[in-house]
Amino acid sequence: MFEKLEKRIIFSGTIEAVTPLHIGSGKPEVEIGGVEMPVLTDPNGQPYIPGSSLKGRVRAEAERIARKEGLPVCTPPEVKNMCGSLKGRVEDFCICCKIFGTAGNISLASKVKFRDAYPTEKLETLLERTGIAIDREKGTVSKGALYTIQAVPAGTKFSLEVVAENLADDELKLLLAAFKSVEDSALGGSSTRGFGKVKFNIESVKERTAMYYLGKEEEKVFTGDGLKQWLKEKGGF
Ligand SMILES: [Zn+2]
Repeated sequence: MFEKLEKRIIFSGTIEAVTPLHIGSGKPEVEIGGVEMPVLTDPNGQPYIPGSSLKGRVRAEAERIARKEGLPVCTPPEVKNMCGSLKGRVEDFCICCKIFGTAGNISLASKVKFRDAYPTEKLETLLERTGIAIDREKGTVSKGALYTIQAVPAGTKFSLEVVAENLADDELKLLLAAFKSVEDSALGGSSTRGFGKVKFNIESVKERTAMYYLGKEEEKVFTGDGLKQWLKEKGGF
C-alpha cells in the first residue's frame, strides 16, 4: 500500500503532573527489608515519560470509548488478538488499529507518534513514599511486602509533542476524546493511592501538508482562542 502524506498535525504543549507521578523503570530493586521502585530516568538522571507509555494509555482509553460507542475493537496487547492477525484487509481493521497501528500478518504503522516527554525544568528532588503492598503494583510486589515508591512531585511539567498523520475526522475525534479520558483516569503506577492524575496542556496545533514541505503552502498554526475553536470543531469540546 503506497501512502501519501495528506496532512500532519503537530500537538505541542505540556503534560502536567496534577498529583505525584510514578513512571517506573520496570526494574524494582529488591533490598533488605523491602522493594525500591525507582522512576525511569534518562542518562542525566532526569525522570521522563516514554512516548510508548503515553501511547499505551491513550490507546487504552480510545479502545474503551470506541467500545462504548458500539464500534468493533480488537483486544491488544497480544498480537494474535489484534486486527493485523484477525483481519485480511486494512479496510476491515478497527478504528484503534487504524489510528495506533497493529502487528500481525498485516502490520500497520501508527498514525500517531508520541515523543518522549522530558521535564521542562531540571528536577532537583523526587518524592518517596513507603507503604505495604496491598494492591497489584504491576504484579511485581508481593502482598504484604514493604515498598518505597519514587515519584515526581505534583506540579512537574513535561514537554508534550504528539504528531498525527492523515487522520480521518472520526479518528481525530477519538484521539482527542482519549486525551480527555486519560486526564480523568491516570498515568503510571500507584493510581489507587491517587498518583498519576495528569493534565494535557495543548498550547499549539500546527497543520502541515505535503505542499508545506515543498514550500508551496503556509502551515496553519492554532493557538489561544483559535486553538479553542479548533478543538471544539474537531473534538466537540
Ligand atoms: Zn484492531
